[in-house]
Amino acid sequence: GPMGMQSIREQSCRVVTCKTCKYTHFKPKETCVSENHDFHWHNGVKRFFKCPCGNRTISLDRLPKKHCSTCGLFKWERVGMLKEKTGPKLGG
Ligand SMILES: [Zn+2]
Ligand SMILES: [Zn+2]
Repeated sequence: GPMGMQSIREQSCRVVTCKTCKYTHFKPKETCVSENHDFHWHNGVKRFFKCPCGNRTISLDRLPKKHCSTCGLFKWERVGMLKEKTGPKLGG
């Protein structure tokens, strides 16, 4: 079948795990770098989610660990990656 950007629901990316603080994120915290924590880079998978209010987020886990920053709900729905648009189209 056709494979568009919308069908991409997860994407591999570089992530960092701090063994001292025990977290995995897209980048290390400043304190982890300045305090020479035991962190290392490896491959992870980011997933795309959307709240019923329309807010979107990305998580390295099966579900985001936070509530929606806009409405406060925890009703994340797995969605595809946002399609890159060259420009907004108005009208219709
Ligand atoms: Zn750390
Ligand atoms: Zn929301």
